Amino acid sequence: MELYKNQQLQIYNSLSKKKETFTPIHDGSIGMYVCGPTVYNNVHLGNCRTFLSFDLVFRYLKHLGYKVRYVRNITDAGHLENDADSGEDRIAKKARIEEIEPMEVVQRYTIDFHNTMAKFNALPPSIEPTATGHIIEQIGIIEEILKNGFAYERNGSVYFDVLKFNETHHYGKLSGRNLEDMIAHTRELDGQSDKKNPQDFALWKKAEPQHIMRWPSPWSDGFPGWHLECTAMSTKYLGEQFDIHGGGMDLKFPHHECEIAQSEAFCNTNPVNYWMHANMLTLNGQKMAKSTGNNILPNEIFSGENTVLAKPFSPTVTKFFMYQAHYRSILDFSSDALEAAEKGYNRLMEAVNQLDKLPTGNETSMDIATWKQSCYDAMNDDFNSPILIAQLFEAAKFINSVKDNKASVTKEDLNTLKTTLHAFIFDVLGLQEETTDNQNTGKLSGTVELLIKLRNEARANKDFATSDKIRDELAAIGIQLKDAKEGTTFSL
Ligand SMILES: [Zn+2]
Repeated sequence: MELYKNQQLQIYNSLSKKKETFTPIHDGSIGMYVCGPTVYNNVHLGNCRTFLSFDLVFRYLKHLGYKVRYVRNITDAGHLENDADSGEDRIAKKARIEEIEPMEVVQRYTIDFHNTMAKFNALPPSIEPTATGHIIEQIGIIEEILKNGFAYERNGSVYFDVLKFNETHHYGKLSGRNLEDMIAHTRELDGQSDKKNPQDFALWKKAEPQHIMRWPSPWSDGFPGWHLECTAMSTKYLGEQFDIHGGGMDLKFPHHECEIAQSEAFCNTNPVNYWMHANMLTLNGQKMAKSTGNNILPNEIFSGENTVLAKPFSPTVTKFFMYQAHYRSILDFSSDALEAAEKGYNRLMEAVNQLDKLPTGNETSMDIATWKQSCYDAMNDDFNSPILIAQLFEAAKFINSVKDNKASVTKEDLNTLKTTLHAFIFDVLGLQEETTDNQNTGKLSGTVELLIKLRNEARANKDFATSDKIRDELAAIGIQLKDAKEGTTFSL
């Protein structure tokens, strides 16, 4: 029998703002859509957290025995610099600056995104559709929305009529924003815009002569508005109504609000039963932003080539660190926090590696069945990974006690313990047993730390020949030392 029949999953629904018992539309199978990356630069760490949060959801649903169709798109057109339908297309801008084709930008950063997700051992989605691959579907939806009277055309562009929509529907129900307040707090249109109201959003934009990413449509040569692609692709692959829609917290408004409005204006159905939003990541207590330099890329964490962390951390440790916070909490990224996560992860893995060597006895000093259910209870409570990890540490503690002959376990219970730990650590959390390569990285950093210490001693003794020799010979084998006020760090 499928596990889900015995487990009661609760999901926090951003639409109702409360935890709800999860019931899929079709018994045993689930449709899930997550807004994917706009591929105009290297995927940043905050986005990785969102995708890893939904990887955890995907993996747990599969573990429970559900058949899951997980759709995560690639935005390769239509996402302008400014969410309010203005500015240059992000991909076209990058292409212009680097003097390459927009599709070269898309290809480069799609590959980067896939490589990074693979390093984190995230499962690929079932379908990964692109915005440019669904222009016809998007035009079809615009035609329907126009026919239903919730959009208007001006000078070759088509806009969604938010005020008209709000007469019969509720615009703002996901984000909790009130249309009257929005109107009161926006400036008058400056006369440059074709919009009737500033709250209206583009479904189709006429391309300026210099805009290279353009497609023919009944209204103009142009491109679809950013919000529309997700409505088109989710409807195409999951139907007019589906179970779960996820994304980063920053997408709640306007992106997801607009998706709901489009679906309701298009087919008059509420498209999504459970809306889920992953919270953001801060770095040393500050919002991550490229402009302030308070930023770090995943590969910079893995290689150690950064000015933020004291040493390199593996993708598995980075992911384990992220899962030690609940996906709806803000998580702060720092060297100390990662080091603590690394220690914890190693402790957990050492315990798992003891499992096959443990002696068995006639009784078990821990209630294994209750422990096992508490692992499920944690994940059933809106995918509460930190509570799950706390349970895994309880098991690690027990394993160590058995090893030290301070506790005992029967063969049968040991078996349950082993299968449960393996299921949650490797299948649900998707952690990887660090390869010898990664274990060697740990030994390597210990060795380099020792050499740094010897070099510091040499320098203190004014033995510069030795200190330079250590630095140069490390450099010759590809290990760079960096001297700073706070001390010396290294990168590979
Ligand atoms: Zn989206």
